[in-house]
Amino acid sequence: MRNSRIVSIISAIFALLIFSGCANEDAPAKYVFLFIGDGMGTSHVDVTESYLSYKAGKMGGEQLLFTTFPVFGTATNHSANSPVTDSSAAGTAIACGEKTNNSWLGVDPEEKPLESVAAALKNELGYKVAVISNVPVNHATPASFYGHNRSRHANYDILKEIPESGFEYFAGAGMMSFAGNRWKPERNISEYLEENGYNVVWGKEELAEAIANNDKIVFGQIYNKDTEPKNYDTTGNKPEGDATLAEMVQGALDLFGDKEPFFMAIEGGEIDWGGHSNKVMPTVMGVIDMDKAIEKAYQFYLAHPDETLIVVTADHETGGIALGHRYNVNWKAYEDSWNENGQSNNLDAAANAELNKVGLIGWTTGDHTGGAVPVYAIGKGAEKFSGRIDNTDFKNKILCK
Ligand SMILES: [Zn+2]
Repeated sequence: MRNSRIVSIISAIFALLIFSGCANEDAPAKYVFLFIGDGMGTSHVDVTESYLSYKAGKMGGEQLLFTTFPVFGTATNHSANSPVTDSSAAGTAIACGEKTNNSWLGVDPEEKPLESVAAALKNELGYKVAVISNVPVNHATPASFYGHNRSRHANYDILKEIPESGFEYFAGAGMMSFAGNRWKPERNISEYLEENGYNVVWGKEELAEAIANNDKIVFGQIYNKDTEPKNYDTTGNKPEGDATLAEMVQGALDLFGDKEPFFMAIEGGEIDWGGHSNKVMPTVMGVIDMDKAIEKAYQFYLAHPDETLIVVTADHETGGIALGHRYNVNWKAYEDSWNENGQSNNLDAAANAELNKVGLIGWTTGDHTGGAVPVYAIGKGAEKFSGRIDNTDFKNKILCK
C-alpha cells in the first residue's frame, strides 16, 4: 500500500517534469532562437504556401521549413489597452512577459521598466545575445528586447540603450533618427555606440571583419550608413553589399560559435510592411525571407539537437489577408506584375488595388487585426509551446520558469 503510494507520487512528479517541458536539467535550452514574423498571421503563412505550391505546379501542399516543425500552437495577443495590439505592446509581451499599452515599449502600464528574456538570460545565466531584424534595429519588435520607453517612437533614446543592454550583436537595416530629429538634433549615434564598446559596421564586408575581430557589433545595411533607413523592400534587387536576414543570422552564429550559450531574437520585419500596404508579393517574399533565416537556425539545431530550441511566431496579424475569392486565386497575375515591376515594392496603391481584384486575394484593413497568431517550435522544450498560449507566456516558457 505504502510502496504503491510512493510509486504513484514518484510517477506523478516524473509526469510533471515531462509536461513542464524542462525535464532533465530544468534549465533553458543552451541555444535559443526566437523568430518573430512581424504581422505574420496564419493566413500569411497559408498565402505563402499557396504561392510555393503554385510555383511547384500544384494546388497546395508545399511547405515552408518552419511549418514542418513538430510543435504547433496559437498565441493570443491583445495589448493592455486594446483588443488589437501594435508591434511594441506585442513585442514587449513576447520579450518581457507582460502586457503594456499600444506604442509603449519595455515598460508596463505604470511605466515600470521590464526585463526582457534576453536580458534575463544574459544577466542570470551569461548567455550571449543577438537582436536581429531586416527593418531598423530600433524598430518596435527588436527594440522590445533592449529598450524601455513609453513611446516606441523615441528612436534616438532607444538607440542609446544599446550599450546599457551589453548585448553582443545587433543587426538591422539601419538606425532610425540616428542623429535625432528635426526638433531635437543630436550627434551621430554611431559615435556614442563606438565610445561605448561597439563596432558600428555597414555592409557585409565590414561585418565579416568585425566578426573576425570578435567585436561587439551594431550592423546596418551599407546604403543606410548615416542616413534614415529607407529600404524595407523584400526584393531580388537589393544593392550590392546588402545582407539578407539569413546572412545576419549566420553572422551571429559565426560570432558566437557553440562553446557558450546564446539567445537570438530575430524579426522578419518586412512581412508587416507588405501587409500594411496590402501588397501580396512583398508579403510572400517577407515570409520566404524569414524561412531562409530559419534554415540557418535549423542547420545549427541539426548539429545540436538536444541543446537547441527554435520558436517561430508572430506579434500580430497585419492586413486581414484572405486567401482567395470566388473559389480561386490568380497567382499568375501576381507573379507577372511582380516581375514587370522589377520585383520591387513600388507598385502604386491604385495599381495594387486593381491587382488584388484580379489576383483574388483579399485584405480587410491597412492596419493590424486582433486574431491569434501561429506558433511553431522544435528542439529542447519545444512541447511547451503547443496548444493555446498567450504572448505573455513566451518569456517564462523559454526561461523554464
Ligand atoms: Zn508588428
